[in-house]
Amino acid sequence: MVKLSLLYSSSLHLLALSKKLALPNFTRTLCSIPTTMSINLQSHAFAGNPMRSKTPKPSDPFSPTQALETLKTRLLDNPHLPSSSPSFKVLPFRKGRPLASTIGGISDLKPTWYLGWISLADCKGLLGNCGVELSGDSLVYLGSRPEEDAVYWAIDVSKEDGVVPELGGKQLCFVELRTLMVATDWADERAMAELAVAGHARALLEWHSTSLFCGHCGEKTVPKEAGRRKQCSSELCKKRVYPRVDPVVIMLVIDKENDRALLSRQSRFVPRMWSCLAGFIEPGESLEEAVKRETWEETGIEVGEVVYHSSQPWPVGPSSMPCQLMVGFFAYAKSLEINVDKEELEDAQWHSREDVKKALTFAEYEKAQKTAAEKVEQMCRGVEKGQNFSADYNVESGELTPMFIPGPFAIAHHLISSWVYQDAPDSVDARPKHPCGSNL
Ligand SMILES: [Zn+2]
Repeated sequence: MVKLSLLYSSSLHLLALSKKLALPNFTRTLCSIPTTMSINLQSHAFAGNPMRSKTPKPSDPFSPTQALETLKTRLLDNPHLPSSSPSFKVLPFRKGRPLASTIGGISDLKPTWYLGWISLADCKGLLGNCGVELSGDSLVYLGSRPEEDAVYWAIDVSKEDGVVPELGGKQLCFVELRTLMVATDWADERAMAELAVAGHARALLEWHSTSLFCGHCGEKTVPKEAGRRKQCSSELCKKRVYPRVDPVVIMLVIDKENDRALLSRQSRFVPRMWSCLAGFIEPGESLEEAVKRETWEETGIEVGEVVYHSSQPWPVGPSSMPCQLMVGFFAYAKSLEINVDKEELEDAQWHSREDVKKALTFAEYEKAQKTAAEKVEQMCRGVEKGQNFSADYNVESGELTPMFIPGPFAIAHHLISSWVYQDAPDSVDARPKHPCGSNL
């Protein structure tokens, strides 16, 4: 039997580091949101990964290349010998779901989740029990914390069914990243940092699983630099392949004159949810051009000025797109008549600031977060085993309101709330102050 030990110390260090993160533009935009919303975001969900702030130079023992060499040596050794420096911590994923736990919380008052880091020895033993030998190429480098003397790795164990009961016996559970996203307390910097680490890891592993062959010659690809890139195995080709990012523009279209914003519904949305327009950037197009084109195509509205707001990594889209980058804008309308493209959207309407404010105020985002966190706890404790909770999490909030917008884990929420609370033309209080330096 493999002895699994969770490595919670990493969480505390993540918290300490995440506090030092500076995200000036976005923080400035958010910090004047009224505290009544009880949302204290330092960065968007999935941004602010504390492990990624500095990549060590190649000569550094914590660098991807050096760490991989050490890893390979250590895998040949008896894994149960006392480990030398640095320590290696591994986060297993199964079908895009990170290993999580709810044990060991700082506070028992409210449920929260932790990433299920296991030691390299535990990982080797776990796979060994499934008849699989762990190799260095199976692990993907996530980052390092020299002050903690630790290097972090991810591994995809989707094919090893045997790991599930063994980990489940330790109250460890593979949980949908979207579920963890909804269950994350937005004021909890530790949890937000772990969400960012899990998002980065999932994006890398999904990219690995969809880039098995060279797009140029069709030969197999092999991981390089501890999985940070790949390369064609053909000596004649050697094409380098890098992790994929798919940029998406997301925009709140604003009717400045009448103090309204354009919100839209896609048919896949849950009932009563309205959001911003969004669309993929096409080759040869600037971000601003994409904002104007998408708005025109989907709603027939002409956009003039386009103002950047912030951006958010989005590693919870389809697996064919391991990580989207949502680039958020305010788009000021030049024409107001709506002509919805029914193939793209179910509906699009202008909404007054007051109506949008109500949608924000009455939506029960905190309640939805707590409910989700409690359900993750149940999953990790093995209660209601086997149930798929993901359907529940699509209903994020909005029990009390005729209209609601996506929760604070989505950039759309912040585009909309920034406009609602900061750009009121008739409000002496709201408009000229801009205490956080926003130019909007
Ligand atoms: Zn090739």
